[in-house]
Amino acid sequence: MEKRTQIGNITVELLLGDISEQEVDAIVNAANRRLAGGGGVDGAIHRLGGPAIMAETRQKYPNGCPTGFAVATGAGNLAAKWVFHTVGPRYRDGLHGEEDALRACYQNCLRLAVEHGCQSIAFPAIATGAYGYPIDEAAIVALQAVRDFQSGENPCPQLVRFVLFSGDDFKVYARALEPEPRREYVGQAKPNTMSVCILADSSGSMAGIADDMSGSLNTLMAENRNLDAEVTVTYSTFSSNYQPQFAEKPIAEVPEFKIVPTNSTALLESAYTMIEEVDARFAALDAYPEKVLFVIVTDGMENASRPQYTRARLFSLIERQTKERNWVFLYFGANQDAIHEAASFGIDASRSMNYCADRHGLERNRERLSRKMEQVMCCQQSALGDVCFDDEDRKE
Ligand code: ADP
Repeated sequence: MEKRTQIGNITVELLLGDISEQEVDAIVNAANRRLAGGGGVDGAIHRLGGPAIMAETRQKYPNGCPTGFAVATGAGNLAAKWVFHTVGPRYRDGLHGEEDALRACYQNCLRLAVEHGCQSIAFPAIATGAYGYPIDEAAIVALQAVRDFQSGENPCPQLVRFVLFSGDDFKVYARALEPEPRREYVGQAKPNTMSVCILADSSGSMAGIADDMSGSLNTLMAENRNLDAEVTVTYSTFSSNYQPQFAEKPIAEVPEFKIVPTNSTALLESAYTMIEEVDARFAALDAYPEKVLFVIVTDGMENASRPQYTRARLFSLIERQTKERNWVFLYFGANQDAIHEAASFGIDASRSMNYCADRHGLERNRERLSRKMEQVMCCQQSALGDVCFDDEDRKE
């Protein structure tokens, strides 16, 4: 079983087989933190590679290797030249940094490949055996890491091979490699129309500012009622789950915004669900809004999405909507590094904003949003990519 495709300059191969037998410059070992040897991938590599690999590991890395990092040794009797030992996360529930750690494993191994001048590298499905990472999520993270790596400025290995140990695992990777099916729109963009989609956090942490937040959204609607365009508004909130409130209401008719704070923050799942919902709605219309401004406001970190809603998956979706549909995403985050957080799921730094979760902070967000609504409305479709927060918006 074999499958091959091109991601940028990198040839990506899926292969049913044994990682230890790969004839590539570097193979990746799914090691443990003590680099002490084990079963699965680790056992196969040391068995076939002979004792030299463990001897070198003990000598060079007596303190082992932390989760998410990677270290290099020679490859003993193996056909490869190098073994990169990386330590995947033990999977608990997907809410304990597992995805970040797994992504880091792939990134660090790709970096080692560049440092060691490797043209080819083979990965097993890191962390999906003894460490229990669900393989369908792990596959998305692995492939996204390769996409991200090649879209940076990095020199890259020419070949990245994923070696899967069972036909089922192979099928999961093959599915993840297929682009998400692109939804075809039946209609056409209606000139001079804009859809403003607002996804607002209503988790428990909003308790102190919920009234100010809903008040500022109500004011925002009132002051933009007379924009020289047909503006519709879609509004959803989220806490432990996604809660649609209203969809595509003409701005003059929007009901009052209300936020009732409760529970936790399922941001990834809610953002994904709302984007898909809006996109599906527009796809079915004869005339869909020409411009879409999609705004996410939160005051806390993601902590409740179901595991299938990975950052990588949301990243692909936001990237697609931004590039192919020209949607303008804005992210407002309090009590976090909003720039870093938004970048992790595909919203550019120039479109994310830290704000202070108090009345003044929310007032400023309203002013910023008002300016962006006007800017989106006034600019040419082809210039939407340039809309971002400017110096005026960045003022406290
Ligand atoms: P981890 O402890 O990181 O979960 P494992 O070695 O237990 O690592 O398993 C990682 C994945 O590699 C699992 O999907 C497992 O089925 C697969 N696997 C086990 N042995 C091999 C091998 N020799 N070659 C390729 N993949 C393997």
